[in-house]
Amino acid sequence: ASIFSAVPLAPRDPILGLTEAFNADPNPAKVNLGVGVYQDATGKLPLLECVRLAEQRLAENPKPRGYLPIDGLPGYVAAVRELVFGADSPVLRRTITVQALGGTGALKIGADFLRRTAPEATVLISNPSWENHEALFTRAGFSVGTYRYYDEQAKGVDFDGMIADLAAAPAGTVVVLHACCHNPTGYDLTADQWATVLDTVRAGGLVPFLDMAYQGFSESLEADGAVVRQFAESGIAMLVATSFSKSLSLYGERIGALSLVCADADEAARVLSQDKIVVRTNYSNPPTHGAQLATTVLTDPELRALWVDELGGMRDRIKAMRHRLVAGLEAAGITDMGFIATQVGMFSYSGLTKDQMVALREQHGVYGTDKGRICVAALNDNNVDYVCRAIAAVRG
Ligand code: PLP
Repeated sequence: ASIFSAVPLAPRDPILGLTEAFNADPNPAKVNLGVGVYQDATGKLPLLECVRLAEQRLAENPKPRGYLPIDGLPGYVAAVRELVFGADSPVLRRTITVQALGGTGALKIGADFLRRTAPEATVLISNPSWENHEALFTRAGFSVGTYRYYDEQAKGVDFDGMIADLAAAPAGTVVVLHACCHNPTGYDLTADQWATVLDTVRAGGLVPFLDMAYQGFSESLEADGAVVRQFAESGIAMLVATSFSKSLSLYGERIGALSLVCADADEAARVLSQDKIVVRTNYSNPPTHGAQLATTVLTDPELRALWVDELGGMRDRIKAMRHRLVAGLEAAGITDMGFIATQVGMFSYSGLTKDQMVALREQHGVYGTDKGRICVAALNDNNVDYVCRAIAAVRG
C-alpha cells in the first residue's frame, strides 16, 4: 500500500464550497455574498488606478528578479512600518517588520515564532472570528480558545463578556484582536472600549496579536490605525499582521507584513533573527512583485494620494450599500435589520438563521455563509433590490 493510503479526505473549505455551489447554480439572478472580496459598482474585482499606474512605472523600468532579503524588500518594510506605526513613532526603534505572504502569511510567521518562544502559551480568538484563525493557530501547535465577542440579542459586542474572558486568561496568553472591521460580525469596539481592552491586556500580562486586514475600510487609514498605535505606544510587547489584499485590491499578490513591537532595540534584533529563520525554513524569502507595487504606491506622493482617494471610494460604496440594503429591506416590510447600517467593513452578520440562509441559496440563488454572514462589498445597484426581496421572502 502507498504510504498515503490511510490519508483521510479533509473537509472542504466552507467558503470555497459556497463558491463552487454558486458557480454551478443556473439561476441567472444569483448573487455571491459568500466570499470576502470587494467588488466595484459593476460587480467586478477592481484593479485600482494607483496600482495600474505603479505597474506601468515598474514595466517602464524593468528590473532583474534577484532574491529579496529574507525579511523582504527594504523599501517596502520601511513604508509599512510608517503606515502602521507613524513615520516618527517612538516605537519604531524597538519594532521589527518582515514582509509576509498576505495577512495570513503574517499571522503564520507570528504563530510559528510565538510557538517556539512561548511553548506554554495558549491562544484566544474572538467568538466568532475569521474561520482561518482557529485553524492556523491550531496547526501551528497552539491550543486555541475563544473570548466572548458577539452578542446576538443586542446585535453588537458583548463587551462585558469579552473583558471578563480576557481578565480570566493566564499571563502570557496570546490574544488575537481584530484591529478594525471585525470579520465576520461587522461590529468594532469604540475608542473607550479599546482603552479598557488595553488596560486588561496589560494588567493580565497578555500578548496582543492585532490582525489588521482592513485598514482604511472603517473610517480612514489613520483612524483605523489608531488602535495599533495606542497598543504599541503603551509599552507592551505585541504583534501586528498587516494585509494589502483588500486595501490595495492585491489579493493574489500575497502581500502583507508582520510587525513585532519589542521592549528595546536589542530585543528587536534578536526577535528579527528568529523570524528570519521562520521565513528561511518555510519559503526562504518573499516574492518581489507585490512588494514593489505596494512600495511604489505608498512612497510616491501622487500615487499615495490616489490610493487614499480610491480606498475612500471603496469604503463609501460599502457604506452606501449598507444603507441601500436597510432601505430596501424596509420597503419590503423588514424593519428590524437597521443594525446593518451600523456595522463596518466588508461583512455583515445579518442575524438570519441557518435555515433562512439555506433557503436564500436554494430558492433565490443568494449565497452567504450558514452563520448568516453576508459580504456587503459584493452588493451593487443591480443586485441589491433582488437581495432585499429574497431576504424578505425567506424571513416570511
Ligand atoms: N485576517 C482577517 C480577519 C481576514 O478577514 C483576512 C481575509 O479575509 C485575513 C486575515 C487574510 O488576508 P490575506 O488574504 O491578506 O491573507
